[in-house]
Amino acid sequence: MSVNIPEIFACNVFNEEVMKTRLPKNVYKNFKKTVRYNEPLDMTTADVLANAIKEWAMEKGATHYTHWFQPMTGSTAEKHDSFITPGSNGMALMEFSGKALVKGEPDASSFPSGGLRQTSSARGYTAWDPTSYCFVKEGSLYIPTVFVSYTGEVLDKKTPLLRSMQALSKTAVRFLKLFGNDRVTQVTSTVGAEQEYFLIDKKMYDQREDLILTGRTLFGAKPPKGQELDDQYFANLRPRIAAYMEELDIELWKLGIFSKTKHNEVAPAQHEMAPIFTTSNLGTDQNELAMEVMEKVALRHGLVCLLHEKPFEGVNGSGKHNNWSMSTNDGQNLLDPGDTPMENLQFLTILCALIKGVDEYADLMRLSAASAGNDHRLGADEAPPAIVSMFLGEELDAVLQAIENDEVYKTEAKAFEIGVDALPSFPKDSTDRNRTSPFAFTGNRFEFRMVGSSDNIACPNVLLNTIVSEELDQFTEILEPFKGSEGFEQEVKKLLKKVLKEHRRIIFNGDGYSPEWVKEAERRGLPNYASTVDCMPHYTDEKNMRIFRKFGIYNQNELTARTEIHLEKYSKTVRIEGRTMVEMARKQLLPATLGYVQTLCESIATKNQIGIKSTTEEKIANKLSDLAEKLYDSIERLEQRIGEANKVKDIQQQAEFFHDRVLAEMDIMRTVADEIELNMPASQWPIPAYSEIIYNV
Ligand code: ADP
Ligand code: MG
Repeated sequence: MSVNIPEIFACNVFNEEVMKTRLPKNVYKNFKKTVRYNEPLDMTTADVLANAIKEWAMEKGATHYTHWFQPMTGSTAEKHDSFITPGSNGMALMEFSGKALVKGEPDASSFPSGGLRQTSSARGYTAWDPTSYCFVKEGSLYIPTVFVSYTGEVLDKKTPLLRSMQALSKTAVRFLKLFGNDRVTQVTSTVGAEQEYFLIDKKMYDQREDLILTGRTLFGAKPPKGQELDDQYFANLRPRIAAYMEELDIELWKLGIFSKTKHNEVAPAQHEMAPIFTTSNLGTDQNELAMEVMEKVALRHGLVCLLHEKPFEGVNGSGKHNNWSMSTNDGQNLLDPGDTPMENLQFLTILCALIKGVDEYADLMRLSAASAGNDHRLGADEAPPAIVSMFLGEELDAVLQAIENDEVYKTEAKAFEIGVDALPSFPKDSTDRNRTSPFAFTGNRFEFRMVGSSDNIACPNVLLNTIVSEELDQFTEILEPFKGSEGFEQEVKKLLKKVLKEHRRIIFNGDGYSPEWVKEAERRGLPNYASTVDCMPHYTDEKNMRIFRKFGIYNQNELTARTEIHLEKYSKTVRIEGRTMVEMARKQLLPATLGYVQTLCESIATKNQIGIKSTTEEKIANKLSDLAEKLYDSIERLEQRIGEANKVKDIQQQAEFFHDRVLAEMDIMRTVADEIELNMPASQWPIPAYSEIIYNV
């Protein structure tokens, strides 16, 4: 297939280019002003704008429009209204007002609000986020919106992200002035989310209730061949996968998503799509959209795209590497070390702000990636451990060490003294990467690798932005009195030295997957929250609440609500998984086992009649009978545990019960069932085995 990429790229997006050609000059100018200065859009401008968007959308085949938002459910939400309005003489008109563009009032009483919105009283409303582009998809105009309650409390994931971006911009602009960066008026956080996923055959998927209901396999013995040969990583693409990826690219390009890199991942049937980075809010919208498109395109190829963090036990899980940096409106990447001493100094100061921030708020970082699904991934094979640490690379680490010890850093080429010489250049290619670090510097950005593959990336970026705002603000307070003075560099150096002394413990360049690191981290006093239930309560710790309040990201109610929603979701997820296990074990696995035992017994009886030995059958029948009994007992116990969990009133305690008691019983059941699977003939096992699923495409 030959594709004219520039022609199709963003053909369904109402972006700057389209705006410039479609909008009257003054309307475009007013709109830009609104975006830049965060001013409300005046109604006349909104009306003209809405009409232009409607005309454009109708040319693209849209008949409906929808406010598209990201509630706390974990997926996006949309409700479609038609442009149609009755005209005179029973004719239909197509109308779209500025009011309809700017504000919507979905009946949103069933979205989780954590008690922020009483179902009967206050309603939620959606408001257009003009910093993200409208687009057309499947006959509808999509308008990216935020979702808040009438009292202004956030009910979604986008509002806090926009708030955090604003906070970051304000603090960073002030901070940059210290370094003579006076022209910068805006700083934007950027994100490039590498998305990992599995592709499996739809026919296999349809036969597994666990995949259908929970997105992951709850049973399944390890296949004889796993990923030990690493023969899948970057391997050439099989035709069916290649066809999928080709169509995926085209669909993403049409939506203005710069899908750039695609390759096979380490695990069998695992792949990755990486877009070119963009602003955090657009990047968040685009990632949500990308996940949806990935799932839809798969179906057209007889495949199912699994976005769960750990669809298969014993096989690598999927993450979403959140590449994060900050850009200024004059085009600087603030995590680019730069070529001149003053740039270097600015870079090192920002780096130290990050070191301090990640150390002080490691709990928030961990929490931003917490979910029932990701709990199975963090700490498992080839995945970031649940301990937050930072990787800087040998060279950069040596530079920081020199600062800390008042030494001059020397490479073969030149000596480096802070603020005097140029920094050595840092490797930007992947060979020198530490892939076991949850937060790694990769030359001009940080890669936060803890985030789960199915997660919305708003939360991790909100926390990163907030943490960095806090540290930059603190640094500015300390350094501002010395701005422009002769002693400025000395003061910076003093500050960096102090920060490094106090926070060096967060830096770890070794193997993050080794058991020694767990011990070492404990010795350093770094938190290790193994599960969602362990880290969630820290959301509302006073030190965390303080920075959220300070920058207007969340008030106390919003934060409590969010904690509750997270924990409730955790409990619900484990409950559904537990119930699915009970059902599959009772209705499929146990009957199959007993059926086979019955067949064996019949064979034994027949053989005995004619005097043939049946010791093999007897051995297998005995073994399977014992295992069947264990499975039965486990089913009874799991059902009981779930019942007990449901009775626990307190949200935190309930989640803990699900974690400690229900998950534990699920593990027992799985071990028994997997053992049975290994002793059953393939033809008698009622669900597709791992090797059939992951080596089938
Ligand atoms: P790797 O798999 O080797 O880590 P990829 O090329 O798959 O690298 O992904 C790197 C991601 O980082 C891409 O999405 C890229 O656009 C993104 N990225 C690059 N520069 C920045 C930046 N300044 N801010 C945010 N993301 C960035
Ligand atoms: Mg990649």
